[in-house]
Amino acid sequence: MLKIGHEVVRPGKHLGDDTVTISVPEELETVPGIPLNYREIDWYAREYPLETMNINERASRDWANSIRDTHVEMREIRKEHDKLNRPLIMAARLTGDQEPTAEATGEDVTEAIKAKCRELGYIEVGITAYDHRYTYNSKKDWVKFPHAICLAYEQDFEPTQTIPSVDAEIVHSSTYRTEGAAGLEMAKFIQSLGYRAQVHSPNDNTGPYIPMFVEAGLGSLGACGYLLTPHVGSRCRLMIITTDANVTHDKPVDYGIHAFCQVCQVCVNRCPGRALMRDKVWWRGIEKNKLYFKRCRPVMARYLGCGICMKVCPIQKYGMGTVMEHYAETGQVLGKGTHDLEGYELEGKGYFGPGEMPVFEREFFNSMPHGDTEEWAFESFKQKAIAAGGQISDELMSEFREEVQRGLSQSRDNLEMMEEVDYI
Ligand code: SF4
Ligand code: SF4
Repeated sequence: MLKIGHEVVRPGKHLGDDTVTISVPEELETVPGIPLNYREIDWYAREYPLETMNINERASRDWANSIRDTHVEMREIRKEHDKLNRPLIMAARLTGDQEPTAEATGEDVTEAIKAKCRELGYIEVGITAYDHRYTYNSKKDWVKFPHAICLAYEQDFEPTQTIPSVDAEIVHSSTYRTEGAAGLEMAKFIQSLGYRAQVHSPNDNTGPYIPMFVEAGLGSLGACGYLLTPHVGSRCRLMIITTDANVTHDKPVDYGIHAFCQVCQVCVNRCPGRALMRDKVWWRGIEKNKLYFKRCRPVMARYLGCGICMKVCPIQKYGMGTVMEHYAETGQVLGKGTHDLEGYELEGKGYFGPGEMPVFEREFFNSMPHGDTEEWAFESFKQKAIAAGGQISDELMSEFREEVQRGLSQSRDNLEMMEEVDYI
């Protein structure tokens, strides 16, 4: 039995449930939250502000959507989601300008807000300062209020265990819509307390939210790039609401996950694209396992949104308390090496059990375009001109012009399903 370093007590999964205790072995203790270098975070935020991949990786986004759309069911899911989700996103965009509907008493309303969030079905709620250093460049002027209410909504267990599958994609998008609608209800509630609230739709992100969730004590960044929450790990969808309400901030927690992931490594070993890193690096002031985007998106595009890194994570499947307890008792990662946890099926390619991995040709990854639409148009133009021995035909020029015009006329709305894979 390993020596326990500290215990973390968290609210139960649902409103009214008993609290849960997570015993963190001493050998897994690092720091509350995640190791950070504030000077580097500041520097990168100023010199290289973040931007949504819907803009700076638009070419591969369009490419991935065109591939997904060749799958009839996936195309229908996306169409249906976009149709149902658009009104929720549009309504969320307006919330920041809405006035309170009552007079504020001046009392601290933290507990009232948290209780209402739980009543609406969120399994995690925490509050911290909104951190502008993570705001996407294109959203810099949009965020109005100083406090971030961080919210996680559970994605159903059963369909998630079938990842990658059509059923999992259905529940993925419907979870986003359910929490998006609940967020609008929360804004009304905060307005009724006498304050203002701005709903950041989970499909219209103002930045990567995980840093604020970690700061609010709601979990830890996993090697898979998702937030691992205490009850369901990565099997939840995140959103935030910013507000000027009188609230108290939560604090980051050391769940032992920063060190545990280095022992576990299941997602790293099982990722079909070999897109996850074994070792941590310092990236933009954060110590983390960095995702290789160019190896992830080609798999997501072709295999039903992939998400195998979510499916094979023991924290997702068994919960953090159970996994830590098992580790403290045995020194082993619960479920590691079993078909139940590690097995997955790739449509058209077959089943892969523990130790078995699919193989892809180099072209599988290299054929993905990169950059935004205009950058990719120029890159393609250049390659074709080189291939033609430096000759630039009228036909090539006209093709280039059309591609650039398409890029410029493209709506840059972020009204598409975003993945929480990767941090920043
Ligand atoms: S979603 Fe990306 S990182 Fe996760 S398992 Fe699939 S390819 Fe790997
Ligand atoms: S599978 Fe293991 S290594 Fe990957 S995020 Fe989950 S706990 Fe961490």
